[in-house]
Amino acid sequence: MIGSGAGGATAAKELQGAFDVTVLEAGRAFKPQPLSLAAMEKVKGTGLLFDERLIELIFPSMQIRKTPDMVLVNGLGTGGTTPVCTGNAVRMDQDLRAMGIDLDAEFEAIFQQIPISTGHQRAWRKHTRRLFQIALELGLNPAPMPKMGAYERCKSCGRCIFGCPEGVKWDSRQFLNAAVEKGAALITGCRAEAVEIQDGRATGAWARQGLARRFYPADLVVLAAGGFATPAILDESGIACEPRLFVDPVLTVAAHCPGSYQCREVAMPFVIQMPGHILSPYFDFLSFFFNDEWHYPAKDILGIMIKLAETPAGRVSRRGVEKMLTEADQQQLAAARKTAAELLCRLGAKEEDLFLGTVNAGHPGGSLPLTEREAATLHHARLPPNLYVADATLLPRPLGNPPILTIIAVAMRVSKLCREKLG
Ligand SMILES: Cc1cc2nc3c(=O)[nH]c(=O)nc-3n(C[C@H](O)[C@H](O)[C@H](O)COP(=O)(O)OP(=O)(O)OC[C@H]3O[C@@H](n4cnc5c(N)ncnc54)[C@H](O)[C@@H]3O)c2cc1C
Ligand code: SF4
Repeated sequence: MIGSGAGGATAAKELQGAFDVTVLEAGRAFKPQPLSLAAMEKVKGTGLLFDERLIELIFPSMQIRKTPDMVLVNGLGTGGTTPVCTGNAVRMDQDLRAMGIDLDAEFEAIFQQIPISTGHQRAWRKHTRRLFQIALELGLNPAPMPKMGAYERCKSCGRCIFGCPEGVKWDSRQFLNAAVEKGAALITGCRAEAVEIQDGRATGAWARQGLARRFYPADLVVLAAGGFATPAILDESGIACEPRLFVDPVLTVAAHCPGSYQCREVAMPFVIQMPGHILSPYFDFLSFFFNDEWHYPAKDILGIMIKLAETPAGRVSRRGVEKMLTEADQQQLAAARKTAAELLCRLGAKEEDLFLGTVNAGHPGGSLPLTEREAATLHHARLPPNLYVADATLLPRPLGNPPILTIIAVAMRVSKLCREKLG
C-alpha cells in the first residue's frame, strides 16, 4: 500500500487479513500545527511569510506546490490530506453511478463506520447565522454542512485545517490504526518512487527512506499516494496517465467585518450548491498569512469560498504538476464572485471594500479516470493485473465538492475486488 490518506488507509484496513499489508507513507505521523493564531499573526507582521511554501517549515504535514495560476495544497503524513480537511462529508458518486458503478453498499458501510452530523450548527457565530438567513432569503437553498466526527463536541476554535486539537474531526488515521491493530506494518518517512514491473506483473515498489533506496517486494501493489503523487509514481514506472488533472480551485471573496471572528469558527459551516461550484463561509488562512491584501486583523475578516468544478485540464508527471485555469473557469469564477459579493454586501459590507484570496486548491484527482470500461473491475487495462489505484486519481470528473467519502467508497470497492481476485 502506498499512502495512508482517504484511499490508502481505507484500502489498508479492508485488505489487512486477506493480505499482509505494508503501508509505505512518505510523511511522518501527523501532528497539528502548534502555533496559536496570535503567534502566527506576529510572524506575519515580520514580513517573513512571503511564500506559501514556507508553511511547511512550521507545519510539515501540509505540502504546497505552486503553478502560475494557483497554490496547490495536500497533506503529507499519516492520514494524508484528511487530518487537514474541514470535515465535510458529502456523497458525490453521481458520475460513477452514471457509468454503472453502484456504490450503495460501500456508502452504507461508511455511514455505519464514520459518525456524520451537523452538530456544529449550535456553535455558529452571529455572522454565520445571518449569512445563512440572507442566503435563504435569496433563494440559494443553503444547507448546514454534514461533517465527519463528533461535532457536538466542536469547540468552534477554527483550527480545522491545522489539525483538530480537540479530536472532534474524523480522519483516515482511524482506518489506518484499525489496519495496524489487525497486523498491518506502517513505514513512515518512506517515499515510494516507482513500481517495479516484470513480465507484465508488479513485483513490488522502490522507495526512498532518507538516503537509502530500497525495494519492497509485493504480490499486490495498491497506489494511493493522492492525485499529485500517484500519477507521478505511475509515470516513473512507465505507465502514462491522462492530462485530465482536476483540483477544485478555491477563491475566497472577503470583507472587512469587525468582530466577526470567523477565524474562530468551524470551517465551512454551511454550503450553497450551485451549478458547477459551491459557496461556503470560509476563513482562508493561506490568504490571510501570505496575501498582502489580507491586512486586517484575522478577527475582523469574513470570507465566502467559491469552490469550482473546473475544466479537468492539467498534467502530472515525474517532473511535476501543470495546472491552469481555462477561460471558461475564469468566467465561472467571475459569475460566482457576484453571488458571494451580494451575500457579503447584504450583510453590510461595501462592494468597493471587498478583497480576494489567492486561488488555491486541495482536491487533486482525475489523472487515471474510471470509465464505463472499468465499471466492473475498477482496474485499467494499462495497469498490470496486480497493480491497483485506490485514490482520487480514479475519479472521472471534478466534483467541485468534498470528495473524501466518495474516495473512501471507491477504495472499499477496489479492496473488495482485490480480495476476490487476488486474496
Ligand atoms: C485544506 C483542505 C481541506 C479539505 N477539506 C475537505 C473536506 O472537508 N472534505 C472532503 O471531502 N475533502 C476535503 N479535502 C480534500 C481531501 O482531503 C482529499 O481530496 C482527500 O484526502 C484525497 O484522498 P487521497 O487518498 O486521494 O489522497 P491523500 O488523502 O492526500 O493521501 C495521499 C497519501 O499518500 C502519501 N504520499 C504522497 N506521496 C507519496 C509517496 N511518493 N510515497 C508514499 N506515500 C506518499 C501522503 O502522505 C498521503 O498519506 C480538503 C483538502 C484540503 C487541502
Ligand atoms: S472548529 Fe476546532 S474543535 Fe471544531 S472541528 Fe474545527 S478544529 Fe476541531
